[in-house]
Amino acid sequence: MPIQVLSDELSSRIAAGEVIERPASVVKELVENSLDAGSTRIDVQVVGGGANLISVVDNGDGIPADELPLAFERFATSKIDETSDLIAIGTLGFRGEALPSIASVARVEITSRHGGEEAGASYVVDFGKPGLLEAAGAPQGTRISVSGLFTNVPARLKFLGSGGRELSRIQRMLASLALVCPHVAFSLAADGRERLRTVGSGGILDAVSGVYGQKIADQMLLLEADESAAFSIDGLISSPSLNRSNRTYMTLSVNGRWIQSRRLTYAIEQAYYGFLPERRFPIAVARVHTPLDDVDANVHPAKTEVRFLREDLVYSVVQRAVRGVLSAHAPVHALGSGRAGGSQGLLRTPVSPGNRVPGDGDRTKPPAGGGYSQWPGPFVLTETEAVPTDGIDSTQAPLTEPGAPVAAGPGDAPNSAATPRDTLPVLRVIGQSHETYIVAEGPGGVYLIDQHAAHERVTFERVKARFDDNASESQPLLEPATVDLAPGMLTTVHEHMEDLSRVGWGVEEFGSSSLIVRSVPASLATRASGDGAGRVLVNVLDELSEGGSRESWRERMLASIACHSSVRAGQMLSPDECKNLIRQLEKTEHPNTCPHGRPTIIQLTVGDLEREFKRG
Ligand code: ADP
Ligand code: MG
Repeated sequence: MPIQVLSDELSSRIAAGEVIERPASVVKELVENSLDAGSTRIDVQVVGGGANLISVVDNGDGIPADELPLAFERFATSKIDETSDLIAIGTLGFRGEALPSIASVARVEITSRHGGEEAGASYVVDFGKPGLLEAAGAPQGTRISVSGLFTNVPARLKFLGSGGRELSRIQRMLASLALVCPHVAFSLAADGRERLRTVGSGGILDAVSGVYGQKIADQMLLLEADESAAFSIDGLISSPSLNRSNRTYMTLSVNGRWIQSRRLTYAIEQAYYGFLPERRFPIAVARVHTPLDDVDANVHPAKTEVRFLREDLVYSVVQRAVRGVLSAHAPVHALGSGRAGGSQGLLRTPVSPGNRVPGDGDRTKPPAGGGYSQWPGPFVLTETEAVPTDGIDSTQAPLTEPGAPVAAGPGDAPNSAATPRDTLPVLRVIGQSHETYIVAEGPGGVYLIDQHAAHERVTFERVKARFDDNASESQPLLEPATVDLAPGMLTTVHEHMEDLSRVGWGVEEFGSSSLIVRSVPASLATRASGDGAGRVLVNVLDELSEGGSRESWRERMLASIACHSSVRAGQMLSPDECKNLIRQLEKTEHPNTCPHGRPTIIQLTVGDLEREFKRG
């Protein structure tokens, strides 16, 4: 065929494919237009997953009657003009593509009344063919309905999912818009049934409640923006006990625009490292604010991705803010709140001190009567039976600098205005149970501490601090150990040699698939001699070969070393060792979870005891 210029009709159908991929894209474009028009209420209805009908009604500025036909011309927009440099765009739309694109693949009816006009007008474009402009009575705002989507583009129609699947896409997308625009009241009805409703109060907690329900809203932690900073973030994140098996519950926006960003999603995930079990993800609404000209929204056809001028900065703002809130709020794990939780009907409320989302009530207050008594308490261990264990005595694990404040004794009043670090209640050790759990009491009831998880946390933070300061210690092995490596592992060793030696491993290549281990990280020294050292190294290499960001594999490497350096379940501890471990745990930054995100401590509240014992 000779080269020929495509007709307008065909070329706009091709172009439409970029912007309008499926019913959810139609809804997104229409709703974003409504948002740009300053609407405070947006009602969406769909029939048949949007394939049969999509209607969007808003109460925004409306379109002047004489501009209605123009709105459907390609590249017709009221949002930018010739003077625009395409940066620092404050509106969601600006390309003037959406309405003509939609109208080229569907029948579009629009009725609108502009705020400044007495009467409204209606207009139809039927698969690209413009109809008549007619006067019509209408409230201020715009109503658009789109029917027969893609019936003139069979290829596209073929790629649509079932009605239910397309509906769930619409629902997710609209939920995201509702979460990032809490000042707008959204509703979605599908085939006559309401699917989503937010009140539009402006409160982000209300939006979360509308989208995910009140129960979830109750467990969210507030991210407060630093108003004075040029780059800031606000929103809500779930407390670690509330998590999901996939990433779809993390919603991001930049300067009011809902976006998708793998990098920023990852920043949030990273911030949760150690707070969540592996492959669990938080619920989050993170609204990033940057100077407008730091973001280029004109890089993606549907504008769902943006480019940041300083992405690393935004990444660290997000990560730091989320991490900060988590550290400040990390609650003690309540019995029964885990998935494999304990007996039903026991406690539910975390005893996290500090400021949760307003309305949450103060759960940190000690029970009336001033806490707990100081009876001497039965030690289940006899001093003579207790075998000293390595790793826990303070010579091996010196966590505190001399002169560092010591944790308050049991007589002190629990402090509910605690500093962020101070998230573990003051505990008095009662004894050890099953050579695995330390039993203690505190202001909020009885606590069980998993000795391995707790020691892992203590060791992890110490090993990490040393590593970060480039001050890790190494311990030579009396007898070097050889380790056989699985295929491909030598590459991992090469890639990570620097970090391996920085953390204290002294290894040499030996033949084509073995290593000689000459020294080990000092924290491992007492536990990993000979074959032990090799096994730990293989575990560490496995962690390293999992990939991910530098930060994530470093943390995994350190967590693995901490795990192998820590006291195990089944090991008897003396009362002093138990106390020492609790004191060290109190001083950690994140005392409530082990580095893998499992709880170190669970609680049985006084209220629960009373209820269970029917003390009324
Ligand atoms: P863009 O949003 O990129 O400007 P669109 O094709 O989406 O392009 O819309 C074209 C124009 O129609 C907009 O610039 C706006 O002036 C007007 N418009 C569309 N939808 C609405 C609405 N719901 N309320 C008010 N004006 C609207
Ligand atoms: Mg638009």
